[in-house]
Amino acid sequence: MSAKPMTVSYNCREQLCVESAPGPGAIVIFGASGDLTKRKLLPAIYALFERNLLPEKFAVIGVARTEMSNEDFQEEVREAMLVNGDTVTEEFLHRFSYVAGQYTEADTFARLQTELERVSEVHGTEGNALFYLAMPPTMFEPIVKGLAEQGLLEEEEAWARVIIEKPFGHDLESAVALDKSLKRYIKESQTYRIDHYLGKETVQNILMLRFANSIFEPLWNHTYIEKVEITVAEELGVEKRAGYYDKAGALRDMFQNHMVQMLSLIAMEPPAVFEADAYRDEIAKLISSIRPLEGQDLGNISVRGQYVESVDSDRPAAGYRKEEGVDPRSQTETYVALKLFIDNWRWRGVPFYMRTGKRLPKKSSEIAITFKPIPHSIFKPIRPKDFNQNVLLLRMQPHEGMGLSIEVKAPGSKLCVNTLDMDFSYSDFMQGEDIPDAYERLILDALLGDQTLFVRNDTVEASWQLFMPLIRAWDANLENVPLCFYPAFSEGPKETNEILEGGSLQWR
Ligand code: NDP
Repeated sequence: MSAKPMTVSYNCREQLCVESAPGPGAIVIFGASGDLTKRKLLPAIYALFERNLLPEKFAVIGVARTEMSNEDFQEEVREAMLVNGDTVTEEFLHRFSYVAGQYTEADTFARLQTELERVSEVHGTEGNALFYLAMPPTMFEPIVKGLAEQGLLEEEEAWARVIIEKPFGHDLESAVALDKSLKRYIKESQTYRIDHYLGKETVQNILMLRFANSIFEPLWNHTYIEKVEITVAEELGVEKRAGYYDKAGALRDMFQNHMVQMLSLIAMEPPAVFEADAYRDEIAKLISSIRPLEGQDLGNISVRGQYVESVDSDRPAAGYRKEEGVDPRSQTETYVALKLFIDNWRWRGVPFYMRTGKRLPKKSSEIAITFKPIPHSIFKPIRPKDFNQNVLLLRMQPHEGMGLSIEVKAPGSKLCVNTLDMDFSYSDFMQGEDIPDAYERLILDALLGDQTLFVRNDTVEASWQLFMPLIRAWDANLENVPLCFYPAFSEGPKETNEILEGGSLQWR
């Protein structure tokens, strides 16, 4: 049965939807000459400005080694916006200034302090500062140390917050060491670990869907749910990130952070209130309930893959090892699939199938929840197994939205069952308005001092702890966890379904 667009009524409760602009403050971007700054941070700051969600008294200071004047940096900002078709005003641009310098030299931080004092006076930022470290992680500690030694992280008269980009460590040991070194200079309440997936509207919508409706939660458990599948598929290969990716791989790049966060939102218990610590306590509790990989036969629950040259003549693509910057003998995984269980009352026995990979047929990020079959059919001779199982599909990318498949009577013959796929797209709901980018949400929250959507340290470490047995087994190239190969643009290693479910697993 063909999918029919659902009627959508946009009935936003105004009093709940109003966003408040933060108080005065400066945003200081370390790594201001970099890719993340241009592609994500500057557009997000501009979008907040356009939506009147920046403080009236704000300034942005870029810091990096690349020599640039204030005017050069303003020109970079102008150009970054033009890429998106936005022409910025002088009113916006004159808030931007730039400090060039080495990240390890005290002089850089002294000049930054002078600049912060200047913008406080000229733009009224009152000494408040949000430091965004858009830098490779090796630079996190030297920068935080430099800020602390200059007294820029003291909070006696103003606030000081630090946003840190992933990856948060390379393994458990380095994550613990990173946190320990940062804690010498900043408190957890000042630390904002960003996982931009958590800023996505549809990821946050998982919480609203589960805890603002009464129809889902009674079914949200092992009695009614048969399995949950989480897929984050990319069509792209390694592109220009080979230097980073070949050392990281899919488990570190996607699984340890985004995938675990998505799993947590789907499976967590309701927090008492939607506030930073209550919410993050539940995430931590959930991650610690995932059945440890230690002690399980990793050969039955995990698949690691690497793409090789495409066999589709219409979609040619080189194999991973031929990509520029990749070691020709690389053992790095570009695909991971896992079968996880959550050992608590709610989820006992429900498999969570999770996969992510590069060079898969299409970009897609979604969660499929398959409900158990009906226990008995009253429609003879239709048997219970003749009915398709209900599936709730939560789509993050592309076409953010959700779908629900239900069994209905098709017109015609008296006993004619068919599946209706109801489909709802978030863009219909937005009625032509752009869906705010994740970085907009997260920068705004950091300016407001709301840590709810930022990752707390205990969950970072719990997540590393979970995956360490797998990392160790892969590093040791154990026989039961071989690297499987898959042609670019195929569905991933053909071994996946065999390994995870003896061949019977059918991904949505
Ligand atoms: P870049 O590689 O573009 O680096 C940002 C800036 O840091 C560079 O412009 C450079 O500035 C400086 N830099 C780079 N390498 C070094 C080094 N070895 N030592 C000192 N300074 C260095 O990074 P991105 O902008 O792509 O990413 C920044 C952070 O955000 C990273 O942690 C990344 O993992 C994370 N991230 C990035 C995403 C993206 O889409 N780009 C997405 C999600 C996370 P200069 O030479 O002028 O000092």
